[in-house]
Amino acid sequence: MKEVDSIALQKSVEIVHDSYTRFYKKQNRLPRFKSKKNPVQSYTTKFVNGNIQVKDQYIKLPKLGLVRFAKSREVEGRIMNATIRRSLSGKFFVSILAESAVQPYKKTGTSVGIDVGLKDFATLSDGTTYKNPRFFRTLEKKIMNARRILSRRQLGSSNWTKQKKKVARLHEKIATASKDMLDKISTEIVKNHDIIGIEDLSVEKMLKNKNLSKGISEVSWAQFRSMLEYKSVWYGKQVIAAAKNFPSSQLCSVCIYKYKDVKDLALREWTCPTCKSSHQRDLNASINLRNEALRLTAGTAEIA
Ligand SMILES: [Zn+2]
Repeated sequence: MKEVDSIALQKSVEIVHDSYTRFYKKQNRLPRFKSKKNPVQSYTTKFVNGNIQVKDQYIKLPKLGLVRFAKSREVEGRIMNATIRRSLSGKFFVSILAESAVQPYKKTGTSVGIDVGLKDFATLSDGTTYKNPRFFRTLEKKIMNARRILSRRQLGSSNWTKQKKKVARLHEKIATASKDMLDKISTEIVKNHDIIGIEDLSVEKMLKNKNLSKGISEVSWAQFRSMLEYKSVWYGKQVIAAAKNFPSSQLCSVCIYKYKDVKDLALREWTCPTCKSSHQRDLNASINLRNEALRLTAGTAEIA
């Protein structure tokens, strides 16, 4: 017992206690045994008397002392706790929970609509497009290859385990890169606009998807939406989702005529049969989402 960080032990007991309390309140299922053979392992340690500190490229942790790490961002505010996790690929990660006061961003008086898609990651109603980085495709191809090799290995053999790690490492790589991209895009949008109109993508439909690259995109969209939502709460902005059945791509953003032919996803550009406006599919959809957000917030918003 002396080998390990005592606060981490206390924290584990706390977590078990919480789980049982919730179980008896019928809020969750019986806590399950976590095997030490599971490749994913983690522990949380609390901040007490400066036992957790970040100094340049090192992090000070109880019992471990100074550990060299790759700092992804500066820690701001008061450190509350740190969670050390070993991932499926065998890499170690540390998440630091810190408390700080958030300053709302300045109001810009503008609103924007966002259409997400497979071709471009996102198109904004002001004409900005965010493309999916090309290396995502390369990584996807690598993942598919690695998976194919894995399927030929004998389940549980050492070569299988090695290959499994390789697959996990590739998945991690794509997840980290995409989270980084989403963080940058969402911060930029929340900074620049007060009202942000988005579509309400249905999660049930998404989960059925077996296609790898589509699957990855959809996970990103869900993550992107949640980032926009919590950041807009932090920074005093508003995210408005259109109703599930709102036909953002089918409506003409000029005369609101509903053109059903646009349902065909291959139709990238079209001309409205009534007002003859020519539309670029994603841009038109994002303008509709912006207008819908403005309609839904009419009267409640500080800006028009
Ligand atoms: Zn029209």
